Parts: sequence; C-alpha cells; structure tokens
Amino acid sequence: MNKKRNDSYIEIIKPENDSLVFKHLKKLLDHKKRKKIKYRKLSSSLKILYLDIETSPILSLTWGTYNQYISPAQIIHPSSIMCFSALWDHETKKDIMFDSIHESKFSDMMKRLHSLLSEADLVVHYNGKKFDIARINREFIKLNLGPPDRYAQIDLLQIVKAVGGFDSNKLEYVSQTLGIGSKIENAGFPLWIGCMSGDETSWKIMKLYNEEDSWLLKGLYHMYLPWIRVHPNVAIYEAAEGETISLPTCTNCGSTDVIKKGVAKTKTQMYQRYKCKCCGTHLRGRKTILPKESRKNILTQEV
Ligand SMILES: [Zn+2]
Repeated sequence: MNKKRNDSYIEIIKPENDSLVFKHLKKLLDHKKRKKIKYRKLSSSLKILYLDIETSPILSLTWGTYNQYISPAQIIHPSSIMCFSALWDHETKKDIMFDSIHESKFSDMMKRLHSLLSEADLVVHYNGKKFDIARINREFIKLNLGPPDRYAQIDLLQIVKAVGGFDSNKLEYVSQTLGIGSKIENAGFPLWIGCMSGDETSWKIMKLYNEEDSWLLKGLYHMYLPWIRVHPNVAIYEAAEGETISLPTCTNCGSTDVIKKGVAKTKTQMYQRYKCKCCGTHLRGRKTILPKESRKNILTQEV
C-alpha cells in the first residue's frame, strides 16, 4: 500500500517530528507505575490470541461536508486493513506481534494473520465480531485464502456490556476506569493520513497505539474471566484424545483447584455447585444429584 499510496494523502498535515514518539515511549515506561494487574495463570492447552487491527479510511469524492450520503460510486479507495497487533496469552508485552502495510506486502501481512488465527483456539478482541474479524474475513475472501481453522471468539465489548455499569463502553474508558491502562494518545485523523502517506513517525506511533490495544485486551480478559458465561470449556482442551479427565476442572481457566459450594437447582434437577479457587468462576456438575425416586415425583408445568 505504501508503494501504491495516493499522492492526495501526502500534502495533508502530518505529525511534525519524532518528539511525539518519545513522548509516547515515556508514557509506556510510566505504565510501570500503574496499578499492578494480577494476570491469572491460565492453562496453556487453550491457545488464546489477543487481536486488534487498524484500518485505513475510505478515500472518497464528495459534494459537501455536512451530513453527506456517500454512494459507492464516490469511493476512490475503499477502507482496508493497514496493520494488526496480536499477542499469545502466555507471552509478555515485549512479545506483541505487529505487522503493517508499511513493513510488508498487504497479502503477506494477511497470510501471517491467517496462520495466527488458524493456530488459535480462542481469539479475544473488542467489538471484533462486528469489526475486526468481519474485515479480516473480507480480505481473506478477496485474497482467496479460504477460512482459517476454526477458532472460538470472545468479544470483550459484549462481555463488558453484559456485565454492565460503565458510563461509556469504549475500550479507553473501561481500561482506564479499571486501572488496566490507557490507549496511546494520538493526533487522531492526521495520524492515519500520515501513515497513508508513508510517514515514518506516524507509523511508529501507530505501532505503539495498535500494540497497546492488544495489551489492554489481555488485562481486560484476565479481569473479566470469571464473568464470562459462555467460554470455551478449557477442560476439553486439557486432555489429550482418549485421555480421562479425572478431576473436576474449571471451564474458564483449566484449574482443578475447585471447591464444592452448595447445590445448583434448575426447575427439575439438582447439581453439585463448585467455585474455582484460581479464577473465581462459578461452576456446576453436569450429572444430576437428585435421587432416582425423587426424579419420578418432580413434576413440571404443562405448557
Ligand atoms: Zn478457573
């Protein structure tokens, strides 16, 4: 993309010098002073990938500036993926993977993303079901790469909304409120214009910005883990094919350090309740503990 960039981007405002980058680097170092996040020790048998993409704006010709309807005929360059950052759960901040159209050919960047997704069992993102994964799949189709191997998804925006309580559900607001960190400040739209025109400083900031978002996802996922009600069952990933799972295992983190805690009751059944001492997830057994004789006498309403 940097080779084919449109000249109309070049003349437009760009960040002026590298001082902005140093400012952001300093801010990253300052992050050490943040609240210490307690990362949980999760089972490595479930391969968790944190993922965030950034996209280029649509370049279009318009007749005005206010409240415009832009028809597809006015689009000169459609929006497309300009970079991504990704991180495996067991890795640290320095291991964040980043690729962009500035560093690689677009198709190579997408192929790299395709293999990462194929390797993952679970992909964690923020609004990724509607945005990131949808955009990525569109590019896979265009490049004829086929779908990656199946993976589960946790969209943290949906989890944050479901648990509720925030005045804004934006990643920046939620992360800051919880003391996980903040997104990298940037000049906003001029940063994107700088990147599209191939400006080195802009790309340095974009990389920091994009990487920080993946890092925030890790903090947020760990914090919300016991609140995630539809999580891939880690117990299933723990055992090799044909191997017996001999202990009650937490669905969300894979720990066997679970304690019995009362009885879970549905309309017609009773199950043993458990709580994971490692991550705090509430669990229940799947085998009824209701005696056979009682089952016969439990009725249910006719509907
Ligand atoms: Zn757990």
